[in-house]
Amino acid sequence: MKQNLELLMEMLAALPDPVFVLSESGKYVALIGGHDARYYHDGSHLVNFSLHDVLPKERADWFLQEIQQTISEGRLRTVEYALGARDVKGLELAEGPDEEIWFEGRIQPLRKPVKGERAVVWVARNITERYKMQMQLKILSEQDELTGAFNRRKLMEALEERFAEYQRYHHPLSLIIFDLDRFKGVNDKFGHIAGDKVLLTITNLCQKQLRQQDLLCRHGGEEFAVLLPNTNLVDAVQLAERLRKTVAGYDFKQELGESYSISISAGVSTLHSEDKIESLMKRADDGLYQAKNSGRNCVISRPS
Ligand code: GH3
Ligand code: MG
Ligand code: MG
Repeated sequence: MKQNLELLMEMLAALPDPVFVLSESGKYVALIGGHDARYYHDGSHLVNFSLHDVLPKERADWFLQEIQQTISEGRLRTVEYALGARDVKGLELAEGPDEEIWFEGRIQPLRKPVKGERAVVWVARNITERYKMQMQLKILSEQDELTGAFNRRKLMEALEERFAEYQRYHHPLSLIIFDLDRFKGVNDKFGHIAGDKVLLTITNLCQKQLRQQDLLCRHGGEEFAVLLPNTNLVDAVQLAERLRKTVAGYDFKQELGESYSISISAGVSTLHSEDKIESLMKRADDGLYQAKNSGRNCVISRPS
């Protein structure tokens, strides 16, 4: 019997991830495991304190709400959250990772009350590496490989999000679609690799003209879209003009080996009430088509 108990204690102490017992009112009742300082800080001093004693109010409120939710559902729940040693009083000086840690919290209600209170077991597993990799994959899945601009998938996702926002708040939303003029000629004269360099340079030139919230996407071979949140048609046209002038004024000598100018044509549209995403794109496309037919190197807006 004694041997069994010793084994049990030994096992508990060796649990790789920290296991907290937290009460319904937010008290740290017990903590075992998680002793590897490469992954975790030693939080043994937390026992008998409350979440609100050691965490900023907002974070403590969040943990408490998760505990109470788990107790009310009466079953295992999983949450993900970031927490740095600096966020927890008394943990700043403990040995452990310097950076913020991403945790997966597995929360299970206890069947019996502890010290007169309902409580949960909260296993906090360090998933920082996995989280970083997931973020990297997400970025890669949204990016165009050649230019680093966003890809068509991201454009469509952002359009849906902004469209939903527009329906709720009516913040203006505009779209520029632009296409390189006579780009086939560039490839024919200088080769495809030189053409690729031009695409990259144009992406960088345009990116510099945009605000952080604007989304530059390469959504076809040499066709780009810029999604402009909080921007009306007049301002979007002005921005498109700036992009056009920037590209037209650039000498692609470094990319092509000789002085060479390239221009773009652009169509611009803005979202109306009762509008659809497809019509916003169609109007910008129509503008682009018209710009090509008007001699290229110009911007045409299609208000309706
Ligand atoms: P327009 O002014 O009417 O747009 O003429 P254009 O020559 O640009 O249009 P067209 O559609 O005839 O040709 C587009 C060219 O863009 C053809 C294709 O080789 C080139 N292109 C598309 N994607 C890439 C790419 O990834 N790299 C390079 N180097 N060229 C590309
Ligand atoms: Mg073209
Ligand atoms: Mg094209």
